[in-house]
Amino acid sequence: MASVEFDSVTRDFGSGRPAVDQLSLDITDGEFLVLVGPSGCGKSTSLRMLAGLEPIQSGRVLIDGVDVSGRALKSRDVAMVFQNYALYPNMTVAQNMGFALRNAGMSKGDTATAVDEAARMLELTDVLGRKPSALSGGQRQRVAMGRAIVRRPKVFCMDEPLSNLDAKLRVSTRAQIASLQRRLETTTVYVTHDQVEAMTMGDRVAVLRDGVLQQVAPPRQLYLDPDNAFVAGFMGSPAMNLLDDVVVTEGAATLGGLALHAPSAVATSSVTVGVRPESWELTSPSTDTLDCRIDLVEELGAEQFVHCTPLDRAVGVRGGKVVVRIDHRRSVAVGDRIGLQVPDADTSYWFD
Ligand code: ATP
Repeated sequence: MASVEFDSVTRDFGSGRPAVDQLSLDITDGEFLVLVGPSGCGKSTSLRMLAGLEPIQSGRVLIDGVDVSGRALKSRDVAMVFQNYALYPNMTVAQNMGFALRNAGMSKGDTATAVDEAARMLELTDVLGRKPSALSGGQRQRVAMGRAIVRRPKVFCMDEPLSNLDAKLRVSTRAQIASLQRRLETTTVYVTHDQVEAMTMGDRVAVLRDGVLQQVAPPRQLYLDPDNAFVAGFMGSPAMNLLDDVVVTEGAATLGGLALHAPSAVATSSVTVGVRPESWELTSPSTDTLDCRIDLVEELGAEQFVHCTPLDRAVGVRGGKVVVRIDHRRSVAVGDRIGLQVPDADTSYWFD
């Protein structure tokens, strides 16, 4: 086990702005830290710099307090799990899992013991004699995990390890990986663009945008107390509704007929107001509601996502639609005119 520290780490590929810009981040011993953000935000590059697959131009990476910035991958004691699994096609599952141990000089007997133990943990015992081509996608993914586990590294680095699995398998595998990590207590840095994976797996989540760290916090805190509109809009599905260029006068903002009281900290006259889909109350249109017309209703079984357009053109919603999450028992239809309220003022977010 080990702590990891990114200390003002930068990587610039010369494209105008750095892929990773002065990243500073402390990861504690045994923690599961997720790096999340949209495509191209610098997640993989950050992970690769930790693993020693990418040079660091300035700043340092420390593992257990030791500066490993100049060291090769081999001497960092980290194990990487890749998106494409990178299994050796001509080797059996057992050989794939034991390869690094044999290479490092471990005896055949000890290697077999380590492989058997990891195979039991990952429910791979029955397929140890098979080649990767004779495995399902989920099994291949677990072999890739097994290869990392047998080495008992200080740090696991995982780069989108679930992205080749179908949606259902991804959900069950993410729970397996998270619980396995809790059992092994190995410090883990996990890269994903999927905010649901980030929320469900991480002890803490670090949100990156354009190479710059936006916020790092436990999932619940990111969701309830985002530092800026980017984090607010990125975490949560469906995304938070962001209403731009809202004018604040005398401590209140009006959205159509709906008046929202601004928190006292709001000092500017033009703000972005955020309301999560579950924080709206859907009612009949009235003088004190934000009136909308329903364009689309997505039925999800237990709940429905209602996409609607404000009738007041002055209300600017990012993405053009307000999304409201309601119970499946409510009866709504495309074309309906509805009114929206925010019954609990604490559930609105204000960004300047
Ligand atoms: P994705 O989710 O799409 O994998 P990411 O967040 O992992 O994205 P990176 O792969 O770290 O992003 O890339 C960050 C930026 O650096 C991108 O703009 C990318 O085009 C650029 N980049 C990455 N590797 C190289 C390289 N070897 N040469 C030039 N530019 C690169």
